[in-house]
Amino acid sequence: MDPIIILGTGLAGYTVAREFRKYDSSTPLLFVTQDDGCAYSKPMLSNALSMKKSATALVNFDALAMEKQLNATILTQRSVESIDLLRSEIVVSVCSERLRYSQLVMALGAEPRRMVLAGSGAADILSVNDLRDYARFRAALEGCRSVAILGAGLIGCEFANDLAVAGYAVAVIDPAGSPLSRLVPQEMGAAFADGLRRHGVRFHLGRTPVAVELRTEGYQIMLEDGGLIEADLVVSAIGLMPRMGLAKAAGMETGFGIRTDNMCRTSAPGVYALGDCAEIDGRVQPYVLPIMHAARALARTLSGTPTPVAFPVMPVSVKTPALPAVVVAPPDSRGVWTVEPPLLQSLRAVCRDRDSGRTTGFSLMGSEAIKGKGALLQEMG
Ligand SMILES: Cc1cc2nc3c(=O)[nH]c(=O)nc-3n(C[C@H](O)[C@H](O)[C@H](O)COP(=O)(O)OP(=O)(O)OC[C@H]3O[C@@H](n4cnc5c(N)ncnc54)[C@H](O)[C@@H]3O)c2cc1C
Repeated sequence: MDPIIILGTGLAGYTVAREFRKYDSSTPLLFVTQDDGCAYSKPMLSNALSMKKSATALVNFDALAMEKQLNATILTQRSVESIDLLRSEIVVSVCSERLRYSQLVMALGAEPRRMVLAGSGAADILSVNDLRDYARFRAALEGCRSVAILGAGLIGCEFANDLAVAGYAVAVIDPAGSPLSRLVPQEMGAAFADGLRRHGVRFHLGRTPVAVELRTEGYQIMLEDGGLIEADLVVSAIGLMPRMGLAKAAGMETGFGIRTDNMCRTSAPGVYALGDCAEIDGRVQPYVLPIMHAARALARTLSGTPTPVAFPVMPVSVKTPALPAVVVAPPDSRGVWTVEPPLLQSLRAVCRDRDSGRTTGFSLMGSEAIKGKGALLQEMG
């Protein structure tokens, strides 16, 4: 029997396999991954430094242990080069070996976005999107005292908080006027910046980097307005791009991610996608909770019971102990935010639909405000 082949051993790939084994213990499962197949919690990458956790310490299970747990075969350090949809085969590096599948799951994750910057230091800018990146980041931090972060989104702010707690001087640069600008209204973003400033983070908001020059010691970041920022290390956290190359080359439908219907079915028969690489039913949702929900439904579909994914309202926690936050970003720009006056260093903003008055999103900052999460989730149904 040809195996179900799963491309990728991140949260999406491993969760769908774990869920699948609840319904089917015998169908062969084969993973192909370009990394070492270690299972780890990716969200920990942005708060592991202050906990003094090395890349090795973040590994929960290695590939051998995962093979045993899942009754699967895992081919590590092997990159998939192409998909032959007519023959139901994938072509794998290093020797262009062809492997046949009964069903194929694409759980390929996403690639960090790179800002186009001039200068002799631009190529040295790091991004941290997997364990290998994290090991490189930890090695690069040796001997550093200051770090500049490009991007004040969720990941950039989490790294800023973590680095500041670990004792580094941190500068965060972003063209937007406030941090978390895609998730929360500006007033909340400004309060959030104040919370991190109290822990020593310096923000350079509304400012755009144009070049990074290598200096005898560290780097100099040049801003569009002529400003200069010095740092021993530069980290980019400006977002991710779903890995769609294989799907595009195979002629599958793509949009913001590999397009699927609400059952994770791509435009190619027998081929599914989920996780950071996928646009499921019109939405790319690169977070843990949507992946878990998609994996549970897809596991049932793979085992013979076609099951649509039902996404509930899924809040995202921002892991910034300086000012912890929980957000549900509204699905569109039709909402109107109401920001309540701050109380005991806690802030709350609720987004309601302009026409129906229905609650479509919220943002809670500080431990007091976060206690109201349950009630708001209930309100949103
Ligand atoms: C620093 C950081 C902090 C985060 N914090 C949070 C958080 O607090 N809360 C939250 O909800 N979400 C958080 N996220 C997002 C969440 O971690 C991701 O959405 C999730 O881990 C993605 O899992 P994935 O399996 O889709 O992708 P990945 O984990 O990236 O896995 C992709 C897999 O595909 C393999 N692969 C890629 N291309 C090929 C190829 N050509 N051939 C073979 N294999 C290939 C890779 O080797 C890898 O095994 C965070 C993300 C980051 C980077």
